[in-house]
Amino acid sequence: MSLKPLILIIEDEKPISKFIKVSLETQGYECIETQSGTNAISLVYSINPDIIILDLGLPDIDGTEVIKKIRDVTLSNIIVVSAREQEREKVNALDLGADDYLTKPFSVPELLARIRVALRHRSINNMDKNKAITKFEVKNLKIDFEKHEVIIDDNEIHLTPIEYKLMELLCKNAGKVLTHKFIIDKVWGGYLDTDTQSLRVFMANIRRKIEKNPAKPEYIKTEVGVGYKLIDE
Ligand code: CA
Repeated sequence: MSLKPLILIIEDEKPISKFIKVSLETQGYECIETQSGTNAISLVYSINPDIIILDLGLPDIDGTEVIKKIRDVTLSNIIVVSAREQEREKVNALDLGADDYLTKPFSVPELLARIRVALRHRSINNMDKNKAITKFEVKNLKIDFEKHEVIIDDNEIHLTPIEYKLMELLCKNAGKVLTHKFIIDKVWGGYLDTDTQSLRVFMANIRRKIEKNPAKPEYIKTEVGVGYKLIDE
């Protein structure tokens, strides 16, 4: 069962597409390229890739349209590639179910790091079907989802119920950028009415409890204008 991970690259700029393909193939991944969004949708159905690298600015249909069409039919991890001026589209893409994003221009190590995270998430998702994950650990942070216990440097941290829900959500999605909207929907059932300011206050409180230096967080990273991400390596 050591099939090469299959990566679908959806990118209309040939030099970028080529750059991604070459970088990934030297690492032992198998790649298929396409320049069109509509073609990409049928490819997803026919080849069922492990990972999809999706440029948001495509010539035929918008990248976000591609996500809408494929999100419900594939477990592929979707990494969105956007230009710097596409901030809004990027957040929208994450809300529609993209898993991560890269902003152009990006480096090979950056690309490879995202691919590794995506593949790890895929194997966790596959495991998940048989066995629920009960624990998560990164650096000196440990969380036990059954006992509702959060431990930092061997000390149990006291969190309020909402703070715990936030931590649980972040840890279960470690390595993945969660948008403000996604977090609010999951934790408050959309009830907070996209009030990112309140969310910020909750996150600041959690950081004070788990981070050595809350101004330079090592566990919960802020993705400016997008949301938050818990590190996973
Ligand atoms: Ca493009």
